[in-house]
Amino acid sequence: MVVRAGREFLAIPGPTTLPDEVLRAMHRPAIDIYAGPLLALTESLLADLSRLFRTDGRSYIYIANGHGAWEAALTNVLSKGDKVLVLESGRFAVGWGNAAAFLGAEVEVLKGDWRRAVRPAEVEARLREDRAGTIKAILVAHIDTSSGVVNDIEAIGKAIRAAGHDALFMVDAVASLGCVPFEMDAWGVDVAMSGSQKGLMSPPGLGFVAVNDRARAAHKRAGMRTPYWDWTARDGHVHYQKYAGTPPEHLLFALRAALDMISAEGLSAIFQRHRLLAEAVRRAVAEWAKGKAFDFNIATPSERSDTVTTVLMADGRDPGPLRDYCNAKCGVVLGAGIGEMAGKAFRIAHMGHVNAPMILGTLGAVEMGLTALAIPHCSGGVQAAVEWLGKSVKP
Ligand SMILES: *Cc1c(COP(=O)(O)O)cnc(C)c1O
Repeated sequence: MVVRAGREFLAIPGPTTLPDEVLRAMHRPAIDIYAGPLLALTESLLADLSRLFRTDGRSYIYIANGHGAWEAALTNVLSKGDKVLVLESGRFAVGWGNAAAFLGAEVEVLKGDWRRAVRPAEVEARLREDRAGTIKAILVAHIDTSSGVVNDIEAIGKAIRAAGHDALFMVDAVASLGCVPFEMDAWGVDVAMSGSQKGLMSPPGLGFVAVNDRARAAHKRAGMRTPYWDWTARDGHVHYQKYAGTPPEHLLFALRAALDMISAEGLSAIFQRHRLLAEAVRRAVAEWAKGKAFDFNIATPSERSDTVTTVLMADGRDPGPLRDYCNAKCGVVLGAGIGEMAGKAFRIAHMGHVNAPMILGTLGAVEMGLTALAIPHCSGGVQAAVEWLGKSVKP
């Protein structure tokens, strides 16, 4: 017995729902890679990406996922033996740090906790100890998609400056760009990276890196540079160089359509939509959690992200059956716990091309599953979400 039909709904934190406009944009023949239209497309995308990162610096587009963009960011500014400080608040900054270690950097993890945000004061204290300036870069995830935390990038940037430290500030904005405010220049971020398949509503396969002048100066001395990722090579005048080879045309068509949709809706409306829908999810989870079978992974409400909510099961309960039920019976795919949270948590993504029926439908499927599987919970989660949206979204 199932109530599943039609399009499966992805409530995982990437890839996210592809708008029909984005899908349609790819359904066309390939075009000349040397002629005007594609050159103009690249120019428009690079300019719009820098605008989205909120930087006067330059952006780069890689045929890569987020892991590729991580590597692009690292290899362009570091040399083997350079020390990198990773700010832990989940799996992703640590994963970025592991890539740096593989590439030959010396990696120190500022121990954090998967249930809370990075503490800027701890960053400042660690940097003050580094009088010799051995730390060359600081890596952090804006939103860590495993724990569901949002880090205060502005405050961390201030902490770095308060310590008088000149390490490069490098931020992973894969799960935040185009969903919540991100201010690369105003927050003192030197290198920011992201990917196509989350808030940017595009197919997986494009990685983005935005770079300021400080990063560009470090790039001149960097010893880890490789031909594919290299900024200098990609700064060349020949269009072919901008992608270190054949451009990923159809992904670029898709990205153009997605950025046009973002521009039509407007960033402030998009941020507000994410806030409202995220809060609807949180209202539902808070209600269900009164049954004590699970709770928010992130303890402090203000540190819960507006793009993904991680729900931690209590008493070693396996979240697998709930995910399986939602998928097999309702056609809703929930995120699994990853890293330390594997087998202990599930995740509800609310990023990118999402609206009230998608989120309320997802919450309805979860509540159905809680009921069907007799997982202790307070019913009324969906009702709480509906009331929140009904009160907040004015006629
Ligand atoms: C998804 C994600 C990544 C990794 O992206 P891939 O495209 O899977 O390589 C990195 N950082 C964060 C914060 C993410 O959410």
